[in-house]
Amino acid sequence: MSTGYVFHPEYLWHDTGTSAGLLPAHPTAGIQPAVHIENPEAKRRAHELIHASGLLAELVVIEPRRATVTELLRAHTGEHVQHIKAQSELRGGGDAGDGFSPVGHGSYDIARLAAGGLIELVTAVAQGDITNGYALTRPPGHHATADSGMGFCLFNSIAIAARHAQAELGLARIAVVDWDAHHGNGTQSIFYTDPTVLTISLHQAGCFPPDSGWTHENGAGDGLGYALNVPLPPGSGHAAYLHAMTEVVLPALDRFAPDLILLANGFDAGVFDPMARQMLTSASYREMTGLLVDAAGQLCHGRLVAAHEGGYSPFYTPYCVLAFLEELAGTTTHVIDPLATVVAGYAAEPITPQQQAVINEATQLVAGIRTAASPATR
Ligand SMILES: [Zn+2]
Repeated sequence: MSTGYVFHPEYLWHDTGTSAGLLPAHPTAGIQPAVHIENPEAKRRAHELIHASGLLAELVVIEPRRATVTELLRAHTGEHVQHIKAQSELRGGGDAGDGFSPVGHGSYDIARLAAGGLIELVTAVAQGDITNGYALTRPPGHHATADSGMGFCLFNSIAIAARHAQAELGLARIAVVDWDAHHGNGTQSIFYTDPTVLTISLHQAGCFPPDSGWTHENGAGDGLGYALNVPLPPGSGHAAYLHAMTEVVLPALDRFAPDLILLANGFDAGVFDPMARQMLTSASYREMTGLLVDAAGQLCHGRLVAAHEGGYSPFYTPYCVLAFLEELAGTTTHVIDPLATVVAGYAAEPITPQQQAVINEATQLVAGIRTAASPATR
């Protein structure tokens, strides 16, 4: 078993500029410019910890390339691709579509390098060069819809990679698990009527986008039943997420029987994250990853490929990334999360009736996934 890893310095050069946290600065309205919340720091520190811990030496480094326009167009409209390109050519950059998603000068090519990195990783997994893999990419992608950027996302790398896997690699059935703290609305919308791509999003209810990701969003047309949402209340932590994994995600994967599992790997459900109010720890990410690794092993020859999404705590995200990646690679390093003792008590939080009710609702929907032929017979 081997684990691939994609990273490139250009991912850190995507320039989101000065802003007021997540808001565009507006001095005359009293919104003072500061460093944008989606800045390179948490990802740079995560990459450096992967290196410093010795884990990097155990991984198969895969070089990214820029996704072609043809590949982008599998998930996006031509107008959207042109819009990002045009904004990117402006010396001061522009916006990807919703007013909250900066496009830096040159970000078009960096976003293509992020999508292309994930494509290369999926290709290496499909060819059997590696078992699974992680793309520590930037900018993120899971909010981007077919025709617009959104929530700091320019192109939806996961959707582009899923379409590539289907079109070029003979992987027909793709499951996308999204545990970013925010709803994976873009990925869901791109595949909403498509029964060949199952999307499952665990997120903080009503966080971002504000009115999105409810359990009644369950797919449409032929895709009815193939979009699942678990909108957990703010304050949800280890117990609720693990319960959602075992009661919803794993049974759904089992019924769907994917050829490949893609993970929208956001770390902003971490307890110190400034952009959400969930309470996961590095131990939570390790345990959730272990469940997905096991499921991939049983269902699709271990094929599990993750793309980095959110995660905005420079001092805590790296430990969650390391725990995730150690578990993915089936190893450990000498680095122990130094905050583990501080947050250990959070794992003991019991599930609340509100969390249980949401998980129960989502559990009911798993039966809407038509059972595929077992992997052994396909
Ligand atoms: Zn997020």
